[in-house]
Amino acid sequence: MEKMDFDVCVIGAGPAGSMAACRLAEWGVEVLLMDRARFPRDKVCGDGVGPRALRVLEKLDLYPSEGFPGRYGLEGVRIGSPSGGVLEVAIAEGIAGGKAGYVVPREQFDGWLFREAVKRGAVSWEGMQVLGIEKQKGGLRISGSRQGRPVSVKARFAIGAWGGQAGKVARPTPASGPGGRFSVVAMRAYFTGLKGLGPFMEIHFDPELIPGYGWIFPTGPESANIGYGMRQDFLREKGVPLRRLFGMFLETNPSARRYLKGGRQASPLRGAMIPFRRARHPVARGRLLLTGDAAGFADPLSGEGIGTAMQSGWLAAECVGTVLRDGLPAGLASVAYTLSCHKEIVWDLALAGLVQTKLLRPPLGLGTTAGILDAFVEKARANPRMARALGRLILGDLSRTAFLDARNWAKLGRAWRK
Ligand SMILES: Cc1cc2nc3c(=O)[nH]c(=O)nc-3n(C[C@H](O)[C@H](O)[C@H](O)COP(=O)(O)OP(=O)(O)OC[C@H]3O[C@@H](n4cnc5c(N)ncnc54)[C@H](O)[C@@H]3O)c2cc1C
Repeated sequence: MEKMDFDVCVIGAGPAGSMAACRLAEWGVEVLLMDRARFPRDKVCGDGVGPRALRVLEKLDLYPSEGFPGRYGLEGVRIGSPSGGVLEVAIAEGIAGGKAGYVVPREQFDGWLFREAVKRGAVSWEGMQVLGIEKQKGGLRISGSRQGRPVSVKARFAIGAWGGQAGKVARPTPASGPGGRFSVVAMRAYFTGLKGLGPFMEIHFDPELIPGYGWIFPTGPESANIGYGMRQDFLREKGVPLRRLFGMFLETNPSARRYLKGGRQASPLRGAMIPFRRARHPVARGRLLLTGDAAGFADPLSGEGIGTAMQSGWLAAECVGTVLRDGLPAGLASVAYTLSCHKEIVWDLALAGLVQTKLLRPPLGLGTTAGILDAFVEKARANPRMARALGRLILGDLSRTAFLDARNWAKLGRAWRK
């Protein structure tokens, strides 16, 4: 008879869910990891696995490791300003493995992490679409459709890791629904045969394409994931299809044009939404803890969400694992998770959101978005310390809570005047 009663049911096996399952299995907890898809499966993404993600993987000895699917390590970030200035910053020093990040197609990355969770002892159900979660005595009942058959399973806790576009089960998801200023829509395709790429994640702010941004993320010395995204409310205001803006980025951006000479598109252009967090929504409800995109944990400044997804998966596993191991009251798991998420993730994202809002709709007297970006890139080009801080900030390696420290504002002021 198949087991239908678990300590923890993890719903969704993206980076958040698989990381939670890896950690819980390590604790010896009986964990069921379910996903509506079958692995390996694709996920529309820039595929940038940055410092935040690497640091979480390091905690489980998943990085650096032989199995880690990233092969082409990157040194840092390259930023193109609206007026054409280019800032190249190496930030790899001090990060485990000596690399600033990797660009790993999600089919490979998520497939690998999913297999790691199973290797560590998680039971896996692929092809299981979760449709409902109900409270019941001592736990939760998770029901859905498994390969077309109705099925329900009992668990003491559930971890919601269903991403930003989960369908029916997503009702408690903070970030779901048409987002306006709470989401970016973006498109990407893979390109091969590129010439002149460097080992940098590239982000470009082109004058006609602002306040959106284009990215060129190398998957190898001659191949890249190239994409373009814009906040949904701005896209609506612009009234131009995203596909056309993506095309303009390829045609007009000087770096893209240079790399693409002789290169070719190797996959269809696909789009998806990056959901951001809204302040009023809880990250836990009773025995259900929300992680990753299901909690709106993507970074409003960079769009990065793999690192925070894994970080929240890890935190959820720690809280549930401790409660189960020590026989503590169940309610403590959601309290501990909410507090630790706020300390490690939520404040950081809230500040990133504030900076993003002010940057994209600058207050009177601060000039335009393009002007602010130009000024920062120019100042950073002349000041290596500022350049490094900016690079780390963009790649999510520097906590935004640094903005709350007056001494850092003083340092910024001094650097700016130089
Ligand atoms: C265009 C684009 C570019 C991006 N670029 C980057 C980048 O370069 N770097 C970065 O760090 N982040 C990037 N992001 C953000 C990143 O993709 C997400 O933040 C990240 O995937 C969140 O991980 P997750 O585990 O929470 O959710 P997901 O990766 O979305 O995984 C959710 C899983 O849940 C499953 N699921 C959904 N509903 C159900 C259900 N009802 N029942 C069962 N299973 C279900 C899905 O099949 C899926 O496997 C980008 C996003 C987009 C859209």
